Amino acid sequence: MKTAALLGLPEGMEVDQIQITETGLVVKVLSTRPQSCCPLCLQPSSHIHSYYHRTLKDAPCAGRQLELRLCVRKFLCRNPDCSRKVFTERIADLAEPWARMTSRLREQITSIGLATCGKGGVRLADRLGIETSRNTTLRRIMDIPNEARASVVYLGIDDFAFRRGYRFGTILVDLESHRPIDLLPDRQAETAAAWMRDNPEIQVVSRDRSSTYASAASQAVPHAIQVADRFHLCKNLTEATQLLLSRCQAEIAAASHTEEPTHSESGKPVIGISEWRAPEPAHVEKARLQRRAGRKARYEKLVQRHEQGLSTKEIACQLDLSQRTERRWLASGTFPEAKKRRKKHSDFDLFAPYVLKRWQEGERNGMELWREIAAQGYTGSERTVYRHLETLKQANVQTSLDPNRLHKFTANTAVWLFVRDKKSLDEVEQEDLATFCQASPTLKRTYDLVADFLRMVRKREGYRLDTWLEQVATSDLPELQSFAAGVEKDKEAVKAGLTWAINNAQVEGQVTKLKLIKRTMYGRAGFALLRQRVLHAV
Ligand SMILES: [Zn+2]
Repeated sequence: MKTAALLGLPEGMEVDQIQITETGLVVKVLSTRPQSCCPLCLQPSSHIHSYYHRTLKDAPCAGRQLELRLCVRKFLCRNPDCSRKVFTERIADLAEPWARMTSRLREQITSIGLATCGKGGVRLADRLGIETSRNTTLRRIMDIPNEARASVVYLGIDDFAFRRGYRFGTILVDLESHRPIDLLPDRQAETAAAWMRDNPEIQVVSRDRSSTYASAASQAVPHAIQVADRFHLCKNLTEATQLLLSRCQAEIAAASHTEEPTHSESGKPVIGISEWRAPEPAHVEKARLQRRAGRKARYEKLVQRHEQGLSTKEIACQLDLSQRTERRWLASGTFPEAKKRRKKHSDFDLFAPYVLKRWQEGERNGMELWREIAAQGYTGSERTVYRHLETLKQANVQTSLDPNRLHKFTANTAVWLFVRDKKSLDEVEQEDLATFCQASPTLKRTYDLVADFLRMVRKREGYRLDTWLEQVATSDLPELQSFAAGVEKDKEAVKAGLTWAINNAQVEGQVTKLKLIKRTMYGRAGFALLRQRVLHAV
């Protein structure tokens, strides 16, 4: 009785005997239910006609294969109106009438198949003590019924490659339940439209920027709102920016070749615009000079003791210096000045070229300059502007650049400075970006427009799209204009994409999952099998 419960056998099934064989366990089971129902007339009967044996493979027990040898009965149907005279005892909760394995083993094989498929599945099953074949595993997957699914209101649609660059299919995702709901064998507008026509309850279609799914949705569910995916929008903008950058690189290269003198005629030091910073506050300067004086005193003592003939080790000990520093100082021959601190990025940098231009035009009013750049988006204080102007009085700032700074970039790598959120750039990257903008006025204008578009994307400010498009139209940036022309063609969907929270990110996620499944099938995925595995993936 207890063993039967342990093995999870249905009520009325008793374990008669357990044998341990080379391959596993063989459990003999007797049915002791007093009666059984006729499958035809559903009348119970307790008149046993005969006994027979049935063998079922069962889910493994403690890592051993398990075989159930059932002794079940045939009953006589005593209902005079029933055409069935003899029927076999039903054990539906354990196995289907003609099955050779228990339902629970079948479910396990199905799960293994969905997770691994084919030969890999057979090997995994073997490890788990389940004997099966590749065909059985595949048949189990194909046998899973596709129940009628709930209606889909928010549909995400995208394509995927069966073979990269050759053959494509379409994946449809319910954006509410986050589940893939169907796969289509191609990416034709007609196929997608036919599918959508069967689902007229669709209210929103989130899609990529291609015209295929756009026209499918317009044909089949014209009432639905189409949402252009933000990811694809940003990708297209990035591509346009990259083209623009490669055009501007010649411009930058020319600018960076001008040699810069270190002192101008007026005797003031000359600094590059990327090194333009506000003067140190008095207390910082004082502390720096104190540190310098301390270092200088130690340096002088070091030289003195060295001349007296003391050993390196003795001197190091007396002056509390490392021997390495001592050797370095002696080798240099003169007092080594501390390295200049690298300039820290400031919000002012992006506006530096503008302020410098106005200064050279003769504008000396700090408040006015602050007002002008604040109108362009500068968020710093007027005090910072005043302090930068202070430097201008003491040095000549030149717009020429550190010629080596931008050499490491290709259009391909530089584009990321332009399209990433500025807050995610580290200090060096922010300086690089500022240098690009200072090197080329075209790039500064580009950056402003690109950053503005991305702000619109991040903050869902679709209502600003028209203004943005107008600004691009009047700019002299053909690459951005051609991006804008594409947006114009699909404007309503783009505006929806920039306004609604909905997007295709999770569809992309499902495509990634699909690729993973496809890969475990070694590229031989038939469409039907792939569809089953994707729709029923665990
Ligand atoms: Zn009957």
